[in-house]
Amino acid sequence: QTKLKAKAEDPYPDWEQGAEVPYAALCTTFSLIEMTSKRLEITEHCSLFLRQILRLTPDDLLPTILLMINKLAPDYAGIELGIGESLIMKAIGETTGRSLQVIKGDQKEIGDLGLVAVKSRSKQGTMFKPKALTVRGVHKGLMDIATVSGNGAQGRKVDGIKKLLASADVHSAGKADINKDKGGPSEAKFIVRFLEGKLRLGLAEKTVLVSIAQAMIIHEIEKKGQVPDTTDMEKAESMLKTVYSELPSWDAIVPAMLKNGIMKLNESCKLQPGVPLKPMLAKPTKAITEVLDRFENQAFTCEYKYDGERAQIHYVAKDHANKYIDGVPDAAKEAAKGVASIFSRNSEDLSKKYPDILSKLHTWVKDDTKSFVLDCETVAWDVEEKKVLPFQQLMTRKKKDVKIEDVKVKVCVFAFDLLFFNGEAIVKKSLRERRELLHKAFTPVEGEFTFATHMDGQELEEIQVFLDESVKASCEGLMVKMLDGSESGYEPSKRSRNWLKIKKDYLSGVGDSLDLVVLGAYYGKGKRTSVYGAFVLACYNSNTETYETVCNIGTGFSEQVLEELHTVLSETVIDRPKPFYSHSAGGQHQPDVWFEPRYVWEVKTADLTLSPRYKAGCQEGVDPSGQKGISLRFPRFIKIRDDKKPDEATSSRQVAEMYRKQESVAKNKGPSVDDDF
Ligand code: ATP
Repeated sequence: QTKLKAKAEDPYPDWEQGAEVPYAALCTTFSLIEMTSKRLEITEHCSLFLRQILRLTPDDLLPTILLMINKLAPDYAGIELGIGESLIMKAIGETTGRSLQVIKGDQKEIGDLGLVAVKSRSKQGTMFKPKALTVRGVHKGLMDIATVSGNGAQGRKVDGIKKLLASADVHSAGKADINKDKGGPSEAKFIVRFLEGKLRLGLAEKTVLVSIAQAMIIHEIEKKGQVPDTTDMEKAESMLKTVYSELPSWDAIVPAMLKNGIMKLNESCKLQPGVPLKPMLAKPTKAITEVLDRFENQAFTCEYKYDGERAQIHYVAKDHANKYIDGVPDAAKEAAKGVASIFSRNSEDLSKKYPDILSKLHTWVKDDTKSFVLDCETVAWDVEEKKVLPFQQLMTRKKKDVKIEDVKVKVCVFAFDLLFFNGEAIVKKSLRERRELLHKAFTPVEGEFTFATHMDGQELEEIQVFLDESVKASCEGLMVKMLDGSESGYEPSKRSRNWLKIKKDYLSGVGDSLDLVVLGAYYGKGKRTSVYGAFVLACYNSNTETYETVCNIGTGFSEQVLEELHTVLSETVIDRPKPFYSHSAGGQHQPDVWFEPRYVWEVKTADLTLSPRYKAGCQEGVDPSGQKGISLRFPRFIKIRDDKKPDEATSSRQVAEMYRKQESVAKNKGPSVDDDF
């Protein structure tokens, strides 16, 4: 067999067929990507590199993809690095023999830990050369860091980082002059950025997905001696997008794709119990008339919008259990008389939070229901009064390792959709058909399991009455959904026009609350001197991977909440804002402390306005001068959103959409005033 060598156009020259992919090669690609903000160029760099891997070392495709999307495993595997800035600084210091104080000083000056690592390394003399890093090795090293537990875990995490950093940059990246002022293709820089959770390359997962599809199809067609055209590319992209939306697990997709080719992916990779799919989401509306306009001449249905926690329940009966993918906690298997898991809105495994649901599940399932994936809301339930309790009650439940006998807050499951039933994905069926199957598959049990209350009337008055009833029943308002035809299919991971939400509280406001990331705080005054009195919040721009400030907030907190927030937030204080925070610099606009981006809060606002002080939506073209961002007027804290990660916060684009909608409604009413905090 002749050994394949890299081709002239390959991004990285030095590796031979079958050899592990050098980590330096990935960093070279990252560096090329970092030099451009053009999506097409980013995709091109990414897919060229993936093609080189496909030709030379296809076995390394999976770890490469994971490192590109800044993940170690699928979300449902629950693998988190659990590392803050201080541990990384300690590791950089100890690897390079520089004191923590010096590292902290550099961080204060440079503000980018990745570049601090680069600077620290370049000062270090090399006594001996450790082995060069490979993609597989870095993935394993990071995985080891993430899975360390027990006594002394922090120390061992630091050791793990040190091991990686000590081997970083010993192998010349070949193109070290690329992007020099941003630290070049330094391995240490990208390891540190991975640890921080943001590569900041503008390399969103959907761009990586498109690059994978392109690389695969070009590779396959060229292997046959043919030339791929744009239709081939489009077909491959569409195939990968559909398959990934139903089975969001590269661990499952990559081996299947390498084995049978990309165009056969849908034969073996389908929605299946055990792998949570990203839920379908709704668009906000401000008035019932807006709903009627949207669904003109099309049948729709209204359902109560329950105020609890979204849950996706996966189940396979015992006699079919071999069909379940994996990752099921043992407790869940025992309890459900089948195999089952419960996943959160962001695909985290909630099985250990809801053993009470799992233990009763089989009593709601009809005998001939053998497997399903159910979309539902778990809601706190008042056993005496037999009614729904507010969301705050649900929040008081323990989050992990709950024992059934200790459960104080009972929950009732309100099911509103069925996505998989008896061995078959049914997401493409109409909502009317799915609902029929849902009602046939289960038996409601009062206070434990029932179907979302719905009403199919299409008249404005009927909807108004139903909305009032939903609020009386302690719900947030209504979900209005397309009922028939292909548009009523379940669209995983989409915020779709075919699902609208009407929240009672926001009918006259901006149509929805926002979920924002806490970036900083001001010390309190008067009664609040021992706690933080106000906070800086931001939305998320996934294109630039930055958090853009959107308001200061000091309203809606009880004294007790402020104390609790002070306790948890003080643990995440950092010396200066992260380089991926977009905020006004200097002066009175600086908060007293900055935090790691960790917590998401739901916030209500009177309306939105433009302000030079904030950065939200600056790149969305809302202000022609590009100087002003969008800000919230009279923001009010509602609750902590434990079920959202910072990068799932309200996006800059959504904020801009809300602003534009408000402006078009308010046209001719004069400009809105800038109301600074
Ligand atoms: P929020 O929950 O704050 O409205 P979100 O971003 O979590 O925002 P949305 O798509 O905006 O999600 O609203 C839909 C949410 O409402 C679902 O995630 C689910 O948790 C909840 N929900 C309650 N009742 C229903 C229902 N009948 N159908 C669909 N979702 C429902």
